[in-house]
Amino acid sequence: MIVVMRPKAPLQSINEVVGRIEKQGFRANISGGDQRTVIGVIGTSFYAEFADMLAAIPNVEAVIPVTRKYKLASREFNPVDTVIRVGDVTFGGSEVVVMAGPCSVENERQIIETAYAVRASGAKVLRGGAFKPRTSPYMFRGLAEEGLKLLAKAREETGLPVITEVMTTADVPLVAHYSDILQIGARNMQNYQLLEECGRSGRPVLLKRGLSATIEEWLLSAEYILNQGNWQVMLCERGIRSYDPMTRNCFDLTAVPLVKRLSHLPIIADPSHATGKWYLVEPMAMASVAAGADGLIIEVHPNPDHALSDGPQSLTFDNFAKMMAHLPHIAEAVGRRIGLHAYA
Ligand code: PEP
Ligand code: MN
Repeated sequence: MIVVMRPKAPLQSINEVVGRIEKQGFRANISGGDQRTVIGVIGTSFYAEFADMLAAIPNVEAVIPVTRKYKLASREFNPVDTVIRVGDVTFGGSEVVVMAGPCSVENERQIIETAYAVRASGAKVLRGGAFKPRTSPYMFRGLAEEGLKLLAKAREETGLPVITEVMTTADVPLVAHYSDILQIGARNMQNYQLLEECGRSGRPVLLKRGLSATIEEWLLSAEYILNQGNWQVMLCERGIRSYDPMTRNCFDLTAVPLVKRLSHLPIIADPSHATGKWYLVEPMAMASVAAGADGLIIEVHPNPDHALSDGPQSLTFDNFAKMMAHLPHIAEAVGRRIGLHAYA
């Protein structure tokens, strides 16, 4: 449930509410809007008398049960946008953050060259998979720890924070040691133990939408991470299964404004996996920014024709640079900043 304070309620009343919540063994989450403070009560099985007791505290306007199945992820519970800071990069603020890099880390030259190229065009985070979930066990499955070390080297050289996927609970400490952000892939969206372990890692987490997950299931998966006390969760729409093989997935662009309405968590769009075709990436990146995405994650490769994974959807350095030159116009139209312009 949430406790809504009256406009401009004094700190003393807010502290009293928090004190009562904690005394009952629950946790309190305070979100301060321009006018009102809303205090979320984290716990299970509240009894009616407790709600009445909170409602009687001076300057409490209302005590409202959270009706959504997902509670911590809901905007009802936390009306103010969650902002996540990774080094100098801020997700969920006025900047639209672009993360870019190859699908897989293949070798030192490939990842370092790509890191410099995407940085020069305005990317703020470097992506690259070291543990790759592949449909066939005979495909390239990543360089594992060697790939993590190469990502760390690219970060050292370029200053870009890195994001990479973690596939198993056992690998969470290793990946968290090297990576600034943990990526949970679409295939693992409902691996609940992995979600909880990432929650306990204390690292920011990017949670991709499952291949055929509903938006409610996706938000409930985020709940598993939040429930561990880790509020640094971003959601990533990467397309869902459809009947039409013309594109790799069906990009559910509606999810972007819908998630922003239902949740306070930042929403990232992945037009690379959503479309599977490099020439569809820029238009859908533009559409994502127009729809209110807080960030993009884009696959870029020095030589897509020879990529060990996801070549057909990877942008060349030139195509990435072109996209990054076009995006600020869209960002500006919706009151956001992006790319190199975000420095201004
Ligand atoms: C990836 O980012 O390379 C990836 C495997 O993504 P997804 O989990 O969305 O398929
Ligand atoms: Mn990929």
